[in-house]
Order: sequence, then structure tokens, then C-alpha cells
Amino acid sequence: MYAWTSDTSDWYGSSSYAFGEGGKEAREEAARRAAVAGPRAYAHRQAPNPAMIDPHKRLTSSSKNPLIVAVDVTGSMASWPFEIFDRLPLLYQTLSQYRDDLEICFAAIGDAGVDRWPLQVTGFAKGYDLEQQLNALFGEGGGGDAPESYGLFASWVEHHVETPEASRPFLIVFGDAPMHETIPSEQIERLMGDNPTGLGQRIKAAVGAGGLDALSTWRRVAERWDTWFLRRPTGRPGDEVDRQWAKAVGEQRIFHIDDEQRAVDYAMGLVARTWGHMGDFEANMRARQDESKVKSVATRIRSDGPRVLACPSCGARIPAEAFGRYTCTFCSSTLEL
Ligand SMILES: [Zn+2]
Repeated sequence: MYAWTSDTSDWYGSSSYAFGEGGKEAREEAARRAAVAGPRAYAHRQAPNPAMIDPHKRLTSSSKNPLIVAVDVTGSMASWPFEIFDRLPLLYQTLSQYRDDLEICFAAIGDAGVDRWPLQVTGFAKGYDLEQQLNALFGEGGGGDAPESYGLFASWVEHHVETPEASRPFLIVFGDAPMHETIPSEQIERLMGDNPTGLGQRIKAAVGAGGLDALSTWRRVAERWDTWFLRRPTGRPGDEVDRQWAKAVGEQRIFHIDDEQRAVDYAMGLVARTWGHMGDFEANMRARQDESKVKSVATRIRSDGPRVLACPSCGARIPAEAFGRYTCTFCSSTLEL
């Protein structure tokens, strides 16, 4: 299991890696608190912590770089909160050195038709506080092959999350299933405390028979959030799951995971490349895994990741063919793509 210390000498790879200056104070603070708390332990709950995961709550992040990581926890994906917990220090420490105001909110998505806790959402947190947040989630493991309640989660993001300082924050969904195309009014009221008619007026959409439309809810969310559906290796490319998600978030926003052990690396890589730190991220991976894995993950991120990149400093468009070290022609920032 990864630790909160900045010591990377026990990483498996052959080359070494040191975290940069960015986010150093937050890393040191997390390491101090982790040392007091003792070895990292995943909660292995039988139920979520209800006070911490209630989707009735409303969140505001004043960070310029909030990040939501949502996981489908139905069926065999019930163990994914643990998999992310295992890599949590790596995830936070790696990305916070690039943008030190990073804040992360976690969500667990189930099926509101059959699950007891079909939508679980934490607050935004950073550093060591993320342990408690992620540990509040419970991978219920219900649902199954049937469509899941991804639309309910999208409606929560749309109406319960404010990010006034962020221009287009990241929203990453790990999943493997299609979604129910209608978000039932009854669930909107019962699970989130929202009035469906009021929501319909707010988004200038008719509340159809029984509820809101899930795909158009996702389309609005994907305009505001840099949204990625990271699909677990199931089914075939272009199948029903892909086609529905393409209508929801765009075909180019579906990223097929071919190696589940690298799932968190793909997510970090999408963010690192968009922020212009791909070179450092490759060095980070190289200290943890062999060169062929590093090459395959980096190649996939470059080929299937963000198509249009903008300079993180000035917003200028970066040519699609730019690769490796690149100097922005407008503001002279150096990026690693
Ligand atoms: Zn620039």
C-alpha cells in the first residue's frame, strides 16, 4: 500500500523519482498526520458512514482545481473504492505537486432501483483528510449487469456542486455499464431532497413522464466539467454501453481501460497531460513499473486522451501534433505533453 511520506525508495521500478516543490507543505503535513495515525487501513465497511456520504448536501469548492472521482460500485466493481484507497497518497501527492490547491470529492454510484445506498458522495478534501472521506464509502456491490444510476449522480453534480473559481474542472467516472435513461422524480426527491419541477425550471427542460432525462443531464454536466468515462475492460468497443455514453459525454470522452491495475494511472495521466506535466508523470510511473508498461500507458493517454489541449497558463490552443517538451508561442510557458 502506498504511504503518505515523500519517500519513494520502496517503489518497485528501477528508476528513482522525487516529488517536486509544488504541494510540498501539504505532503509534509499529510506525512506528519499519517505517522501519528499509524499504518494505513481501509475500513472494509458493511455500510457507508451515513453522515459523510449523504447526497442531500450541497458543496462549494473555492479551489481552482477541484476534482471529482466517481466509481460505479455495482457487481464486481464493489472493490474499487479499496483499489483507489490503496493508491490514494500516490494520486494526491502526484497531482498536487502540479496544482497545489487540488481538492478531491469521491462518489460511489449504484442502482437506485435495488441498492440501499445508490448514491454516496463525500465532501471536497485534500491531503490526509481524504483518507476519512474515501473510507466513508461502501462498495455495496448490488446492481449488476443492468443499467445503473449514473444519471442520478450527474443531477447531483449539476445541482449540488458549485465551483466558482474553476474554469473546467475534471470529473472522472470509472464504470462498466449503461445508465437508466430517466432519473425518476421519486429518486430525485427521496435521495437528494430536490424538487423535480424546480430543477426542470432551473435547467429550462420539461420534466418528462416520471423524471429528468439522464443523457441531457450528462451533456450539460460535460459542458461545465472536463468529463471522462473510464470504462473497465468489458464488452466490445462501440457496443451499447459505448454508444449510450457517447450520447451522454461525447465519443472522445470514453477511455477504455485495458489493464485494471493501471486504472488510476490512466486517470492521473489524463490530468497530468492536460496540465502540461506528462514528462514528470512518465518519470513517476517509471519509478513504479517497468518501461513497457510506462510506454503503453503514456501512448494510450496521448492517442486516446484529450484531443485539443490549451496552454494551462494563457489558454492558447496547442497544436495537436505537439509532443514532449513544448514552449507556448504566446506566453512562453514550458509544457510537457
Ligand atoms: Zn501559454
